Amino acid sequence: MAVTRTALVSGANRGIGFEIVRQLARLGILAVIGARDTREGLAAAETLKPEGIDIPVVALDVNEEGSAARAVAEVKRIYGRLDILVNNAAILIDAPGGFKASLFDLTSDTLRRTMETNLLGPVRLIQAAAPLMREQAYGRIVNISSGAGQLSDMGSGYPAYRMSKTALNALTRIAASELGGGDIKVNAMCPGWVRTEMGGPDADRSPEEGADTAVWLATLPDTGPTGGFFRDRKPIAW
Ligand code: NAP
Repeated sequence: MAVTRTALVSGANRGIGFEIVRQLARLGILAVIGARDTREGLAAAETLKPEGIDIPVVALDVNEEGSAARAVAEVKRIYGRLDILVNNAAILIDAPGGFKASLFDLTSDTLRRTMETNLLGPVRLIQAAAPLMREQAYGRIVNISSGAGQLSDMGSGYPAYRMSKTALNALTRIAASELGGGDIKVNAMCPGWVRTEMGGPDADRSPEEGADTAVWLATLPDTGPTGGFFRDRKPIAW
């Protein structure tokens, strides 16, 4: 009998993470909302009920030591396994000027907080999920990265965010290499510029479009790629 897959998505109370959960659930995957404020997670889950989708919420603050391990353990308690991990939670706090923020205005605090959430968060979640995925001999890890982290197209603006996404890409390669062998696939993706709180109202993509490649990577067949970086379901340069 085919196994029903389960998924944990960080930062899934809103934006692209929420849309990834919705799309996974529509495919019949038992997706779980990871949210640092569980009330917001529950409010998001409530909006899916009219579709007949009932999603559990687990507390997950990727900055908090131990939270990732507790969230993974909670998914295992609810569903008995964890097949898919989507590292979606992230912050963009470069200032002043947001996307125009200069390296020469960057404070240690901004860089430290950005790396904590955007890099250390995914490290913690991968470390927590990998033993279970190894035991199951199955796993799909998707790191929501950004074109802003591409070394091949690196430029000025929001330096802390850029560096954190380049580092997340490095983590993708390292984890894919250590977990390689076919059963566990680790890939990074760029959703494009998406209309969320982070992307703002002028972005050219809907959350539905932004989530598509992540969902595709989360459900790759055994013959699918690992250690890659994708946008619109196609490989892009690191
Ligand atoms: P968003 O609307 O700002 O949502 C970010 C999510 O991350 C929220 O659920 C937020 O939770 C959560 N989060 C932040 N810090 C957290 C923490 N310490 N622990 C747990 N959750 C935390 O952003 P988005 O646009 O959906 O972005 C999703 C992903 O896509 C991010 O990785 C982002 O870098 C990437 N991305 C976005 C765009 C874009 O144009 N939007 C482009 C390229 C890449 P709270 O509600 O509690 O704050």
